[in-house]
Amino acid sequence: MADPIHLREFFRIPFPHTLSATVRSLLDRLPTDCALCLARSQGGRPCEGCLSDLLQGLPDRRCPVCALGLPPNTACPDCALLQPAFARVISALEYKPPVDQLILQFKNAGRFQHARFMAEILASAVRLEAPELLDEITIVLPVPSGRLALRRRGFNPAAEIARQLAGRLCLRYWPIVAHRRHDGISQKTLNRHARAKFQANRYACRHRLSGETVAVVDDVLTTGATLHAVANELMQAGAKSVVGLVVARTPYQRKN
Ligand SMILES: [Zn+2]
Ligand SMILES: [Zn+2]
Repeated sequence: MADPIHLREFFRIPFPHTLSATVRSLLDRLPTDCALCLARSQGGRPCEGCLSDLLQGLPDRRCPVCALGLPPNTACPDCALLQPAFARVISALEYKPPVDQLILQFKNAGRFQHARFMAEILASAVRLEAPELLDEITIVLPVPSGRLALRRRGFNPAAEIARQLAGRLCLRYWPIVAHRRHDGISQKTLNRHARAKFQANRYACRHRLSGETVAVVDDVLTTGATLHAVANELMQAGAKSVVGLVVARTPYQRKN
């Protein structure tokens, strides 16, 4: 039988977020290949061995706000700089091998099936670490993709995860709350100060909110500057609070 996950990937069909629980559970059990070692697996997940590798080395201590893994007796350098507009971040994994490999496959090779696993593992992290989000009026939205990145990839990776995450958690998916005002230069060459400054005013919220909690989804959180800029707009638009939900957080670096 043809695997609909691969057919969907081939035709680049976005995944609906309103799948019924029955359909989702059937798709979760479909035989698929592990993206990392090609062993047989199910539902687009890595095999058990690779899953255990992905979960290795999660930090013992994280910043309670931005989820940066911190050595003992160390203050969070990212929060000291940003004074974040977001309340907290939930991160399912650390952005290091082999997590980075999986995310790069997803973002740069259009491997849509990875969004299923990423939404699944993120949903588990939310249920464990922030179950209050499920009881509140929570809106789920992705960090918007820049126009150039969208043209290059043909899709917004954060939106793929956010849509499926909202479906799994039965929360409202509302992707048009924040969007990028303009594209600019790549942030990759900028240091943390320049990056924070660069991000200001890159996002806008065109809708008034009335005290909802907003969960902003992204694949990777690096310094928090992007999430801060999005959260700032959402708070000004009337959000009660903003929580970042990310698949992976970059590890602490002593001289970053
Ligand atoms: Zn594997
Ligand atoms: Zn922090």
